[in-house]
Amino acid sequence: MNVGKPMGSVVGAGELAGVKVTVIGLGRFGGGVGVTRWLCGQGATVTVTDQAGRNELAESIQALDGMDVAFHLGGHDRADFLAAELLIVNPAVPREMPLLAEAAAAGVPRTTEINLFLQRCAAPVVGVTGSVGKSTTTAMIGDILRRRRTTHVGGNIGGSLLEELPRILPDHVVVLELSSFQLEDLPIIGVSPHVAVMTNLAPNHLDRHGTMDAYAAAKKNIFAFQTGRDVLILNAADPIVSKWAAQAPGRVEMFDPRGEPFELSLPGAHNQANAQAAWTAARQFGIDRATAAQALRDFPGLPHRLQFVTRRDGVRYFNDSKCTTPGGAIVALEAFPPRQAVIIVGGYDKHVSFEELGTALARRAKAVVALGATREAIIAAIQASQTEGTPPIERAEDLPAAVALAKKHAAPGDVILLSPACASYDMFTNYEHRGMMFVKLATA
Ligand code: ADP
Repeated sequence: MNVGKPMGSVVGAGELAGVKVTVIGLGRFGGGVGVTRWLCGQGATVTVTDQAGRNELAESIQALDGMDVAFHLGGHDRADFLAAELLIVNPAVPREMPLLAEAAAAGVPRTTEINLFLQRCAAPVVGVTGSVGKSTTTAMIGDILRRRRTTHVGGNIGGSLLEELPRILPDHVVVLELSSFQLEDLPIIGVSPHVAVMTNLAPNHLDRHGTMDAYAAAKKNIFAFQTGRDVLILNAADPIVSKWAAQAPGRVEMFDPRGEPFELSLPGAHNQANAQAAWTAARQFGIDRATAAQALRDFPGLPHRLQFVTRRDGVRYFNDSKCTTPGGAIVALEAFPPRQAVIIVGGYDKHVSFEELGTALARRAKAVVALGATREAIIAAIQASQTEGTPPIERAEDLPAAVALAKKHAAPGDVILLSPACASYDMFTNYEHRGMMFVKLATA
């Protein structure tokens, strides 16, 4: 321990030069790399530890090339937790990890990359959370605000803004997508974003949070530490989050997901809901509706989220590879008129129920091409739905075969939709890999 430094002061916005810091969880999504680079720049003595090994983390390690970092990979050393003066815990690391409890009992303070950023950010922060629609809403808010203000977008959507800090000025705006895991540790610093957006709430990540109450409690941190001058934006149509108005320390603005529609290139009522949330957030910064409408009209969508890929022979292709839950595929099906979408489904088996998806596929799909580990389970769910006139079902061995089969069923005016309802790990590195392969096949 650094003598003379009161315990816990390092979790404040103070100096980190010479402080012994352990980053727990480097990960592959940029947050771990960003915080490690920034800590090195602050003059901290940095150790990075991760359960994953060198091969799995090769890209992240490469991004830290030339930095003075000690890597302890492929497992954790107790000493890295107990002899540190500060732990930076990756959002993906389970909080019940015994070594974390031991470090806490020994008085080693811990914080997160997001906390470090929030404590030092000079600009007002818009935080966006919810069960679905976070990335899309965050990107929409960024695109609207950019029309009038210098805007920085980060958080869960990718990368770290810590290294941007010197260039973030008080008259700029920061928009952060915040996952429940990133929100879990806000109580350590007692800070919430100035404008907090709650898109919706449905059971999600219960494997990690345990109960719906624990999940909701993590989400509520997005406004728990707001002041009377801050704003909480809630979905008026969501039965759970609309009730949180009474608990808000600041002003509450409700958005109506079915409010006056915006012209969007993205399909689906859910994207209209995201646009309403985004416009309500942008309005807090004095943006007028015409400016917001222009930005939203030009918003191209995010890769792998019901992203328009191409039109070939009158057939439109949409890549929704990020859809890894049955609920997501139902939303995608509902974004198109009944019997217009030939949908490619199936993937890694998370042992979720496909009952509702089976019914939705039977009622709305023009044809279904199933592949991957969940192929037979999804087909069984369609057949069990007892819907009149079930669509044709095809079995594919891989994605190229699936796209070829989908083409057979698609006529001009139809849509070929990759919305797998499952994670991708059975056949691909990740959902980006799956989506990029689909785009390649569609545009070949
Ligand atoms: P998140 O960042 O919360 O995962 P995204 O914006 O990346 O959300 O969208 C992921 C998927 O979730 C989309 O492809 C779509 O299927 C679904 N989705 C997005 N927004 C909504 C919404 N407001 N309501 C319901 N489903 C949505």
